Amino acid sequence: MTITKKLVLAPILVLLAVGVTSAFTLDSYLQSILKDRIKQELSGIAASALVAVNALGQDTDIVSLDGLADRLSKSSGARITFVDGEGVVLGDSELLVEELRQVKTLKSRPEIQSAIRGGYGFSERYSATVDSKFMYVATQVDFKYAKYQQDQAAKSRFIIARAALPLTNINIAIASMRWGHGLIIIASFSAVVLLGLVASRLIAKAIKNERIVLEQRVSARTREISLLQNMSGLLNACTNEDEAGKILTQILPQLLPELKGAISIMKSPRNKFGLLASWGGEWPGAKFYKSNECWALRKRHHHTSREQETNVVCEHFDETLTGEAICMPLLAQGETFGVLHLISISSHVTDNEFKIATSAAEQIGLALANLQLRNDLRQQAIRDPLTGIYNRRYMMETLQQEFSRAKRLHSTIGLLMIDLDHFKKFNDTFGHDIGDLVLKRVARELRKNSRAEDTVCRFGGEEFCLVCPDISLENAQYLAEKFRKRVRNLDIRIHHKPIDTVTLSIGVALFPHHAHDAELLLKSADEALYRAKAEGRDRVVVSLVNKAGVKSQFLLI
Ligand code: GH3
Ligand code: MG
Ligand code: MG
Repeated sequence: MTITKKLVLAPILVLLAVGVTSAFTLDSYLQSILKDRIKQELSGIAASALVAVNALGQDTDIVSLDGLADRLSKSSGARITFVDGEGVVLGDSELLVEELRQVKTLKSRPEIQSAIRGGYGFSERYSATVDSKFMYVATQVDFKYAKYQQDQAAKSRFIIARAALPLTNINIAIASMRWGHGLIIIASFSAVVLLGLVASRLIAKAIKNERIVLEQRVSARTREISLLQNMSGLLNACTNEDEAGKILTQILPQLLPELKGAISIMKSPRNKFGLLASWGGEWPGAKFYKSNECWALRKRHHHTSREQETNVVCEHFDETLTGEAICMPLLAQGETFGVLHLISISSHVTDNEFKIATSAAEQIGLALANLQLRNDLRQQAIRDPLTGIYNRRYMMETLQQEFSRAKRLHSTIGLLMIDLDHFKKFNDTFGHDIGDLVLKRVARELRKNSRAEDTVCRFGGEEFCLVCPDISLENAQYLAEKFRKRVRNLDIRIHHKPIDTVTLSIGVALFPHHAHDAELLLKSADEALYRAKAEGRDRVVVSLVNKAGVKSQFLLI
């Protein structure tokens, strides 16, 4: 049995028990009231019978009393009997005058006995005369008239008037009353059962609807949680911010379909922010803004623009902004990495949307922090800390990749091995710090004058190396020459005084002309650099090593 049915059945059963108990109580109460009323009625009839007897006066005799009993019985509907103090019947509405003499004394009847003793008697009993159960009420009166006294039948000077009604009549009234009760109980019970059933149906329906709503809510929450988890997993697998932006434009519109949104991230310098991604239509705000233009960044807490009460709008939003807008800072480890901006398309951002946005912002902040940490670690692993250009390890990786690409596409790779001339002496003359400064300036010059596809790296100490994919030997030589001249012409001053001219020796080698793999190409460029040094420094020299790694006398091109 379901809980709803139990809930409905329990009060019905209680009500039934209460109904039955109260019906029985009411029944016995009404019975006693009914009997009391009939008793009173019979007392009244008996009393009026005595009044009528007195009214007969001098002429009272058995005939007149019997006639009176008949008349009173007709008018009242009760059986009327007159007896004297000895119980001798003087008149009876059920008997003829002739039959009266044959009736034995009624002195033994309890109501007559009581009436003789105390003036009033009552009983409920079976009457053999009329073969029925009756309710009797008897009252007596003093009667002194001479004619009555002379009557042989009258043996005392009292007359007792007895009124009686068959109990069958009373029982019929009680039975009909019970029927009435029964019908009322059945009708009320049926109504209660019916109401109970209707209530049970309504409750069951309401519970079902509530359950459907709850199930929908649970499935929506489950979907949100799985989308958030999915987003977090994907963001952690991203290698750069652009990838993260693409993931966010895919997932955030699913999580917050009623909101337009954008993510802006911190740019360099640190007080600048730029839009990484946006969704839900054209973004009504600046693509780049300063940190003081966003209240969320100032407060390091979410801020609502176009809010009804305050209406303080972030400056990065333009005039086309309609509806409520929320900016949430993307924080992690106490640092700000960006801002999640959300605009309500309809009226305002709901509580649930706000909760989802808060969870999403936490995860995006962590993911951006992770991304930056990984990028920092990677940069540390592949960059030279002094000059900021790539290190030898990265150069070796790149060279291997370029080799497989060049072999596949049948293209070339130029390798420039660059060494600063007499740098030891330079250090000795100007100090190590100035030496460092020179290394930085040379690195900058190399980066500035190389092509976008070239990889410039610090090979070690005062040696640099350039990997130039898809280049002719002529162009590689030209590039090397350009570097040499630019560095030679560098105007480096210390306390406004120019320092010695910095010169470079550069060895050039080309795949596939001088080597068939990375190691040999490096050796070939090194060989050329060695010769550049030997031939007097401050020059560019092309390798003489052949494909097989054997040094020849002449240039093989
Ligand atoms: P050469 O023309 O034959 O190349 O002469 P060189 O003095 O440049 O060559 P050598 O190999 O004898 O000396 C290289 C010098 O480069 C020695 C070292 O002090 C200097 N050096 C290497 N790394 C750094 C650096 O990180 N900072 C500074 N300031 N000097 C460095
Ligand atoms: Mg050297
Ligand atoms: Mg050197």
